[in-house]
Amino acid sequence: LMVAADVNKWLGSNHILRGVDMSVEAGEIVCVLGPSGSGKSTLLRCINGLESIESGVISVDGDRVGFKTHRGQLYEHTEREAARMRRRIGMVFQHFNLFNHMTALQNVTYGPRHVLGISRAEANKLGLDALNKVGLGLKKDSYPAQLSGGQQQRVAIARALAMKPQLMLFDEPTSALDPELVGDVLAVMKRVAEEGMTMIIVTHEIAFAREVADRVVFMDEGRIIESGTAAEVLDNPTNERTANFLRHVK
Ligand code: ATP
Ligand code: MG
Repeated sequence: LMVAADVNKWLGSNHILRGVDMSVEAGEIVCVLGPSGSGKSTLLRCINGLESIESGVISVDGDRVGFKTHRGQLYEHTEREAARMRRRIGMVFQHFNLFNHMTALQNVTYGPRHVLGISRAEANKLGLDALNKVGLGLKKDSYPAQLSGGQQQRVAIARALAMKPQLMLFDEPTSALDPELVGDVLAVMKRVAEEGMTMIIVTHEIAFAREVADRVVFMDEGRIIESGTAAEVLDNPTNERTANFLRHVK
């Protein structure tokens, strides 16, 4: 469903992604681990077209995102293509990024109404379904400030789900939460995974990765240095840097 091949990205003189290869099958759950600054967020941002790449190819369901080098030529997507791509990809951030002046339901129905052009009644039905899925149907009229961090993050997940994405990207969705709120969010993500969603999840939650991930990849200094099943990467890392990282987060 998603293929990244020899992706390189520079920011100024910094070589941020250094020949990243990664592919994700439909329905697969891939967890991405790695130290701070290794390029995890940048990779997600490139996959959903928020950032361009300087060479390589990223495609989602056959459509290219970003830039592509072809015999030295750069292919630049149009804003229209980028928008079409982003519609198919749901993104959940560390800091929720909800609209604070909108209720939970308004947050969730905004995309369906304004991006997909669905009627208000239909969007409300879809939105309520999504809120129920994350266990927050009763909070539909609450504003973000009236919700806990964990509840806000579940609204953000519902908002992404309501767009019926083909692929969902999560960037450390629980790392800004108080410890007692993490479990609810992970439980929601696990349920979404079990329903067959394709997910790429940047996380430091090793136990979650072990339980839910079909594959775990480890990034370091802009490269994927290890990739395999959770058991392979988490319990028997072949790379010393992976082993060292795991000793510190476990
Ligand atoms: P963390 O675990 O801290 O979230 P990360 O793995 O997500 O880290 P990125 O945020 O992708 O890492 O950053 C990768 C590299 O890109 C880092 O070295 C960072 O300093 C650099 N970087 C990020 N944004 C910019 C920018 N706007 N300009 C220059 N360098 C940047
Ligand atoms: Mg990051």
